[in-house]
Amino acid sequence: MANVDLIQEMRGAVSLAIDCADQDLRKNINQELHQHPEIAYQEVFAHDTITQFLQDRGFTAKRSTYDLATSFEAEIGTSGRLVVICVEYDALPQIGHACGHNLIATSSIAAFLGAAEALKKSGAAGRLRILGTPAEEGGGGKVKLIDAGAFKDDIAAAIMAHPMPSHQISGSNAPHIYDGLAGLKMIASHKFRTEFRGKTAHAAGEPWNGVNALDAAVAAYSSVGLLRQQIQPDERVHAVIEVGGTVPNVITDYTRMNWNVRSPTIAGADKLLARVKACIEGSATATGCELSYIVAPTYANLTANQALCEVYADEMGRIGDKILLRNENPITASTDMGNVSHIIPSFHGAFAIPAPPNTSLHNPGFTAAASTDEAHEKALRCAKGMAMLAVRVLLDEDLASKAGNDFQHNHEW
Ligand SMILES: [Zn+2]
Ligand SMILES: [Zn+2]
Repeated sequence: MANVDLIQEMRGAVSLAIDCADQDLRKNINQELHQHPEIAYQEVFAHDTITQFLQDRGFTAKRSTYDLATSFEAEIGTSGRLVVICVEYDALPQIGHACGHNLIATSSIAAFLGAAEALKKSGAAGRLRILGTPAEEGGGGKVKLIDAGAFKDDIAAAIMAHPMPSHQISGSNAPHIYDGLAGLKMIASHKFRTEFRGKTAHAAGEPWNGVNALDAAVAAYSSVGLLRQQIQPDERVHAVIEVGGTVPNVITDYTRMNWNVRSPTIAGADKLLARVKACIEGSATATGCELSYIVAPTYANLTANQALCEVYADEMGRIGDKILLRNENPITASTDMGNVSHIIPSFHGAFAIPAPPNTSLHNPGFTAAASTDEAHEKALRCAKGMAMLAVRVLLDEDLASKAGNDFQHNHEW
């Protein structure tokens, strides 16, 4: 058990450091990122802005790490346990920061600043790292980072949190009960594109000489629509036709679709994928088109770590926030932090921000909600909880081993 007085002193240091950085974070991270939304792997402005911010505060920020142009890393401490705070900063095409990753960046950077200040003050051993993880929206940035070795060290905990409209945390009947959620759980997702290749012909003059790739796409889309009746309520399949042809009087010879196939576990997603592929392949056969797949990283289901969740909820309670310990059933969305949660003890919380009724993530209404002063304030409150979680994992041997044990044996919590 770590010294109780020391932990209490650390709370003061965390709070002071984050409060002091508040306006700087608001103006130079939160608002700058919100006003410059960038999609997966193109987050050059965010990468430069955040690394400069860290540099200006005396940290050595390594740029373009792990062979990813828009990843970055900074670390303090030379011995002891290692905690990694993950940052996301990508946006969605056309609707900007509708997933609120400007707030993720704000809360994660604030947590890093707070925990770093406390760790320095404590004089204790411990390493604290901030890791820039690009392309959460479909690009699987964390999967690429895992493959490149970004999580290969002995890491005691990886930490981050996501903003959410309050009704998604507490349920629509009682949307204002909780300020946040500790154990956010999400489902697994296969992500891939399909290409159908056919043959052009004059659509009016001699359509019988064409092989229609748009028909293949429409048939695949419709078949999966029928399949949806026979899948589990917590499974999801969705697709768009990204390339669907050029003009009506030429038979379309090429179409490309983008697919997500989701189920609560990877094993379930594998089974569902086989059924979806049967629909896609049947459509290729029926239309005479050639089919090819372009496969993107699979997102594993996000698991919750009981020990880390309990400490976060405890710390947030101390600053007056009521936290739901975990969601019983995973929400039907996915994150590449899921993959991290399968290789090291991970914390992925959620903080409620004010949003209009029926406004969920990936909705333009949430883009607006993600830039308000209230949302910024919520992000910083969450940062205080995450910073103290990091500090306690670094200073408290018992907590670190309990989190390790929960990771090994308590995956279904
Ligand atoms: Zn999103
Ligand atoms: Zn998101």
